[in-house]
Amino acid sequence: MTLHVFNTLSRSRDEIRPREESRIRMYSCGPTVYRRAHIGNLRTYLLADWLRRALAAEGNDIIHVKNITDIGHMRQEALEQGEDKVLAAARAEGKPPEEIARHYTSAFFSDEAKLNILPAHVFPRATDHITEMVDLVATLLDKEIAYERQGNVYFRTASFSDYGGLSRQRPESLEEGVRIQTDPLKESQRDFALWKASEPGRALQWPSPWGQGFPGWHIECSAMAIRHLGMEFDIHTGGVDNIFPHHEDEKAQSEAAFARPFALHWVHGQHLLVDGVKMAKSTGNTYSLADIEAKGFEPLAFRYLCTKSHYRSPLNFTFPALVSAQRSLTRLREAIKEDSTAPSNPDDLATATWWKKRWWEAVEDDLNLPRALAIAWQLARSEEPISLKRHILLEFDEIFGFNLASRNTVNEIPPRLQPLLAQRSRLRSRSEYRLADVIREEIIGEGFEVRDQRDGCLLIPKPAWDQAATVISASTDVTSLIEEPDKYELSISLLSRDNRLEVERALGGLLPMCQEGRAEVIVVDNGSDDGTDKWLKQTAEGQRGLRVVCADHNLGTAAARNAALRQSRGRIAVLMDASIEVTGDLIPHLERDFADPKMGIVGRWGLTSNDLRHFSETEESDDTIAIQAYFMAFPRRLLRKIGLLDERYRFYRHLDLDLSLSVRGIGYQLSVDTDLPLVRHEHGEWMRIPQEERERLSKRNFYRFLKKWGERTDMLTTAASETAKHLDRQEPI
Ligand code: AMP
Ligand code: ZN
Repeated sequence: MTLHVFNTLSRSRDEIRPREESRIRMYSCGPTVYRRAHIGNLRTYLLADWLRRALAAEGNDIIHVKNITDIGHMRQEALEQGEDKVLAAARAEGKPPEEIARHYTSAFFSDEAKLNILPAHVFPRATDHITEMVDLVATLLDKEIAYERQGNVYFRTASFSDYGGLSRQRPESLEEGVRIQTDPLKESQRDFALWKASEPGRALQWPSPWGQGFPGWHIECSAMAIRHLGMEFDIHTGGVDNIFPHHEDEKAQSEAAFARPFALHWVHGQHLLVDGVKMAKSTGNTYSLADIEAKGFEPLAFRYLCTKSHYRSPLNFTFPALVSAQRSLTRLREAIKEDSTAPSNPDDLATATWWKKRWWEAVEDDLNLPRALAIAWQLARSEEPISLKRHILLEFDEIFGFNLASRNTVNEIPPRLQPLLAQRSRLRSRSEYRLADVIREEIIGEGFEVRDQRDGCLLIPKPAWDQAATVISASTDVTSLIEEPDKYELSISLLSRDNRLEVERALGGLLPMCQEGRAEVIVVDNGSDDGTDKWLKQTAEGQRGLRVVCADHNLGTAAARNAALRQSRGRIAVLMDASIEVTGDLIPHLERDFADPKMGIVGRWGLTSNDLRHFSETEESDDTIAIQAYFMAFPRRLLRKIGLLDERYRFYRHLDLDLSLSVRGIGYQLSVDTDLPLVRHEHGEWMRIPQEERERLSKRNFYRFLKKWGERTDMLTTAASETAKHLDRQEPI
């Protein structure tokens, strides 16, 4: 068999048959260099790397081109609105655009090298190919497939009958997709820009027959692919988000210009997700390779992790999964540690052929690397001689790219430990095990795991990533105590993230209640980078009633609150923001407030509204339709009725409204208690977020809220809903 790979164009697993005998030309959409590549981008570059390695191992000559988009617009819509990501980043960082592009280009090269991604043979830069782009646009204009309007040139999609063929979008849905932003200059809203006139003073612009301007995003890839690979080539790769509009448009303009097929085989990789959602800066869940390294992982552990999922399935990234990938990678290297003494066996050749055949069947079956990896493990665990295992696995590694042959740095014994190890060996040889164990403890204390083997002992450092296993990655990683009986009067939850001083102030007012055993405080650290988490851990040691749960990344507000709520054992649960300072004993106040069995949520600051769209603060219980998240207390048992918080609220805004309305929805009341001994300081979380980001985050939560509650005008009166009361009567609490 030869390599068969799913082709987005034909929707089938097609054999990759080189157009030219044993020579494969391949183009990969590369990075837009206005920011560090995230691990999702890297997953897509890994796909191209596997493909290339497999084709090379089959004996093909490869020419691989990967472009660097240094005129940066990620999306055509953004481009058409004149937004340029490189320029925006340059503005934000106060540097010239060329410097931004240079900086992130070298970061990209370094990331690829660390992941053992073979460098492309050509890395064309968009800014070096403006002439080719202008020529291509001119060709399209000559053929009347494009038209010019006021210095802008558009591709006339109606003149290319195959338009939509790659993404299989029907013309109506294409209209749908672009309706949001209409451009009066376009003949049809489906048309897309090939060249844009630049606004005065723009930093990146070039002369053209249509005046000063800059190229469209799609035209960049067409021009660079054609220049370096020719009008027709074998493979084009990218992530699934590239299919439309980028690749659809790239294909249309290239094929329309030269009336020949462009790329024959389109290969698209599925996305990498974090916490099951798309990675996005505004969601606070983007990671770069540097983040992974900072936690002590080897970059190749990420490569291993990606190998475990098929490229056409979404991959949900979590740190525990990375821990397990790192462990497996280390073990795989250990399994084939050199054993030069093993004699070779005449049966070896047949055995090797058998293993390789099975393995290649997996690889050639649409790059089924998860299956290939499983076969590699079967071999590693088999009874075959080590020398044979090593020989075969190193051959597999030409495609896996795990650097299995590299000396395993993990097993190098640091010089300072050598004398201790020698001493321990001596003691063991004299059967003085008790003393040997004392030394063992000492070595462990230095951060190593000691594994005794027949021929000596193996020291394995306990790296930072190993500790990641003891922190949580999701709220469900902590046991739920919701059904357990009350143990305290109050359970207060606080969230921390790079805000040690605030948390310290908040704890100052809370700990006196804990010391008396009446309250507990649960702090969930949402992935601090500045040491707040370590400080909290230390503070919690020997501190009665204070518990710290550390998350390995920002779980989002609702999930972190849920982690705390799942662990709470207080009769009353309190959600408190770190900007709040407690200046007295809360318990008598809350006991009084909750003496009324119909009391749902008590807070210090309420919200009122006339339309569920605009809200203002109130301290009057009679006007209050929701309690603000600065401080909200409710009977813990309510969670058994309304469930935990909706974790899609990654940002705190409107989460309090959702909770308040849910509690009222089952017939409970709200109250503002102005006697609560609380002082409100500047809201740190809000202040730390840039203006633009705040709006984006707030909006997202607002729409989520609106969808659920927007029409519930019954919620505008402070009384709990009538229907709910009725239900409640049937089902008393
Ligand atoms: P960009 O730098 O955003 O233009 O993206 C570079 C490459 O990464 C493109 O091929 C995208 O399709 C791909 N990509 C973007 N986001 C992800 C993701 N979350 N997972 C996998 N690939 C992605
Ligand atoms: Zn591209």
